[in-house]
Parts: sequence; C-alpha cells; structure tokens
Amino acid sequence: MPENLSSQLEEYLPQQILKLVKGAGEKASELGLELYVVGGVVRDLLLGRANFDLDLVVEGDAVKLAQELAKESQASLTVHPHFGTAKLSYTSFSFDIATARRESYSCPGALPSVKPGSLTDDLCRRDFSINTMALCLTPQRFGELIDLYHGKDDLDNRLIRILHPNSFIDDATRILRGLRYEQRLGFKLEAKTAELLRRDEAMLDTISGDRLRHELELILKEDCPERVLKRAAELGVLTKLHPSLRGNGWLSKRFEQARQQCKRTSPLPLYLCLLIYNLTDEENEQFLSRFNFQKRLSQAMRHALQLKTKLHTLANPQLKPSDIYQLLCSYTTQAIQANFLAAESPIASQHLQSYLAKLRYVKPLLNGEDLKRMGVPQGTQMGEILNALHEAKLNGEVRTREEEEKLVYNWCQTL
Ligand code: ATP
Repeated sequence: MPENLSSQLEEYLPQQILKLVKGAGEKASELGLELYVVGGVVRDLLLGRANFDLDLVVEGDAVKLAQELAKESQASLTVHPHFGTAKLSYTSFSFDIATARRESYSCPGALPSVKPGSLTDDLCRRDFSINTMALCLTPQRFGELIDLYHGKDDLDNRLIRILHPNSFIDDATRILRGLRYEQRLGFKLEAKTAELLRRDEAMLDTISGDRLRHELELILKEDCPERVLKRAAELGVLTKLHPSLRGNGWLSKRFEQARQQCKRTSPLPLYLCLLIYNLTDEENEQFLSRFNFQKRLSQAMRHALQLKTKLHTLANPQLKPSDIYQLLCSYTTQAIQANFLAAESPIASQHLQSYLAKLRYVKPLLNGEDLKRMGVPQGTQMGEILNALHEAKLNGEVRTREEEEKLVYNWCQTL
C-alpha cells in the first residue's frame, strides 16, 4: 500500500492554495489525466519547511490542463507550448504545470533533449533522491506518495544522493546544486555521491557561462552562502570555477558582515565583490568572462578592485570630507561597501563608512536655478560655484540656506 500524506498536505498548504490544487486535481481527473505535485515542495513538506513554490506535473498535455483551469478562475495564464509548460498566476502566488518528460543527454554539459514521458521518466531525470518525490493530486489517489528513489529514507538519514553514476557527467551544475542543498539543509553528501562528485569536478568545464552563473547566483541567494563556498573550497570545486577563488574564514566573516550592510537590498552584488576581492585584475577579467556577468555586476566587481588600490590614500587621517567624497563618488556602492568590509586600516574604514552613511547624501540646499536668480551667469562659473558650494557643505563650512547664499554672494564679489 503506498504511503498517503493527504492529511500532512492539507495541514501544510494554506487554505487558498489547497483549494486550487484540489480543483486542479479534479479537473485533471475529468480530462482523464493524473496530476502530481513534485520536487521541492514534497521534500520541504516532509522536512516541515515552508515552501509554496508549487511545481505540478501531469502525465499528458499540461498546456491544455492549464487552459481549462484558467477558464474557471481569475488566474492569468502563460504558456510555453514548445516546452509543454504553463504558469498559472493568481493574485498572491503562482504555480507551474509541466507535461511529464523524458530527457536524454547527447553530450556532457549540453542541454538535454526532451520528449513527453511518464511520471517515472520525469522523476528519474532529476538531480537528487530528495527531489524525486511526488504526491498525487487526482481525487481517488489524493496525497499518495510516489518515492521511486527512497528519497524519504535519504531525508530521514539527511543524505544528498544522485540517482545514477553518470549524473554529474550529464550535468555538472548538479555538483553546485548538491553542495547548495547539503549546506541549506545541514545534510551530507552520501559516500558514493561524494566520491563521484570529486571524480567529476572537471566536468564543470563543460557548462556554459550562463548556466554556471545561474547556479552561482542561486548559491548566493541562500541564507548562508559562505557555507556552500567553504564546502566547495574543501572539495576542490571552487577552484574549478576559478583557480584563485578561496572559500576561507576571511570570506565567511565578510559575508556575514555583508548581510548586516544590506538589510533592505539584495547582498548578491556585494557578495560577488567580496568573492573576487583577492583576485588580480586579470584574474577578475577571466572570472567575469567565464560567468558572463551582466554589465552592472561586472562594473561593481571591477570597481571593487580599482578602489582597493586607493585604500592607502584613504588611510590618510588628514583627509577632509570633500577629499573623501572626491575619491569615492565615481565608484558603485557595492564596491565601496566591499572595501569598507575588507580594509585593514581603521582610518580608511572610517572614511569609507562616513561616505556610505553620510557624505554621499550631502547636497547643497541651493541649486542652479537659485544661483541664476541670484545673478550668477550660466556656464562654467555656475558649475564651479555649485561644486565649491558642495565642497563647503561637505566640510561643514555652511549649514543653512542663508549661509549658502552668503557664500555665493561673497564669491560673486570676487569674480
Ligand atoms: P529549491 O527551489 O528549494 O532550491 P526546487 O526543488 O524548487 O528547490 P528548482 O531549481 O526550482 O528547485 O528545480 C525544480 C526541480 O527540478 C528540482 O526539484 C530538481 O529535481 C529538478 N532540477 C533542477 N535542476 C536540475 C538539474 N540540473 N538536473 C536535474 N534535475 C534538476
């Protein structure tokens, strides 16, 4: 008798999602199809971790099922008929429905060729046993657990296990995925999986820059990415991404501090600046081109290294606030934050911190329009006066509007 998790599923899913999922199972049944929830949600349900990123798989036409469901609800529908996938988006959440598929790899690292298949085909193409479990959603079998690879045992034993010995050769992104799950869940690589991972590390060279970058970004979106990078360093995986990368204590400490710095924004660009911080410019360029980073991120990383060469100047205690501003104003924020976290000189750190917390926001109260009204002619002089005003403001020489106006009048007298 297959295990049935219907009561756990009913308790786990929020009422609204549960209702929709049950409705989807009923609709599939009306169409003579079997519908399943698969992968991460089943894993996380069994672990008691919240995850409502539902991936549904249907043995049959997912697009047709999604279209039928969209007709009867407020959901907006996006379909990819070529891939046999659809997305149903409701006001506060969405779920993906895919046609069960069979995959085969023509050569290592290539994207697989895909054909419609059975649920079994769909589960055996997956990365790790803990991600291969499915729960049936069609009414007669609602909640029935399909666990072809003993994923539940591996969850109980806290193990990350690949499904076949060529798994990392077929798709070496699984090496990075495996370390990510291992560290996120506090699991261990199963012994044979660990052995094969070490054997196949060099297969990371077969992966395109875009796919590699996607996996690195997924790592950096984890709560504690430094753990994954440390483990990747221990296993020799990190140096396969670039020989000069280090996942050491220095990096771990800076990543923790980076999260404190980025309470309201994503720490990802700052993490990247710290990851490459000990590379040379040339090594950084190799890293950027291997991972094909978008322009904005590449610029932040380049700036981090450029600014590092200015730290000795920033360590001068005599610098005025306007000097600090001039030194830093052309660098991206993340490059400055990275240098703040990495700088060894307390004075340089203090200057970087003062720029980040205060100086970058300092602006004169008067603008070009005000100066025009005061009779300053437009042109280079106006620009010079605005700059001088900004400098005076940064150095605390003027505070109020009246003080700024007085300064401008005095300058005008000397023109
Ligand atoms: P999470 O989002 O929590 O990391 P998930 O299971 O939702 O986990 P996704 O990256 O959304 O992960 O992938 C969905 C499923 O697709 C996974 O559960 C996994 O089984 C499968 N999968 C993703 N990438 C691969 C891959 N490279 N090789 C094999 N299977 C994969």
